[in-house]
Amino acid sequence: MLNTLKNRFEQGYRTCNYPKEKPAVFDRYRGMPVIKPQAPEEVIAACADACPQDAIDAGKKNIDLGRCVFCGTCERLSKGEFISFTGDFEFSAAHRQSLVFDGSSLPDLAIHAKKHFKRLFGRSLQLRQVSAAGCNACEADLNVLATPFFDLARFGINFVASPRHADGIVVTGPISRNMKTALLQTYEATPDPKVVVAVGSCTISGGPFKGSPEIAQGLDSILPVDLFIPGCPPHPLTNLYALLTYFK
Ligand code: SF4
Ligand code: SF4
Repeated sequence: MLNTLKNRFEQGYRTCNYPKEKPAVFDRYRGMPVIKPQAPEEVIAACADACPQDAIDAGKKNIDLGRCVFCGTCERLSKGEFISFTGDFEFSAAHRQSLVFDGSSLPDLAIHAKKHFKRLFGRSLQLRQVSAAGCNACEADLNVLATPFFDLARFGINFVASPRHADGIVVTGPISRNMKTALLQTYEATPDPKVVVAVGSCTISGGPFKGSPEIAQGLDSILPVDLFIPGCPPHPLTNLYALLTYFK
């Protein structure tokens, strides 16, 4: 006990002050993009051609953030003339279509948040994570929310072992054919009312595996999704922002 107190005294309070204060992120982190539609047409077309995810619509001058893997190719190619990425980690959406971003603000999640979910789960939200063939980066960046720095439990949100104890599922990965049955069984085992959260480009759209016959082409094609968190992987603070904004 004395050692515990001594350690605490020496190390101080390690939990970040988010959401009261935004912690600094790594300067090479790519967060919310800025789109400049006045960029030359040929630059926009070159970005669309080079995008490995077909996430850029050159005609409509937008990016599908549900497909984007934040590789930075478009920013490098356009030298920031068309797209540049900011360090803003606060983005996510309640509707798939809202992730198609044309430079104006993403609709405020709080406006779209289903008020009854806030009422039901505002004080306590238990989530079961389903890794449906993810590469483990999305999973790791969810896992880290349980560490003292983020301390997800201080908001009444926990990851639990059984779907029967959960209020919802958080899905990562492109949902391979082999994992689809397990995912659907986990969903069925979660009691109503329940929420479904899609984390990462793979889950939202297939990500780098888009078009493969071995995966589902987006979680919303097989389950009703309540919250989409884009990224590859989404930053832990993006996950935290989305969960707090939508449920708290
Ligand atoms: S950052 Fe996104 S939109 Fe840009 S090239 Fe990469 S995947 Fe495409
Ligand atoms: S979205 Fe990216 S980080 Fe997440 S599982 Fe897919 S490939 Fe991995």
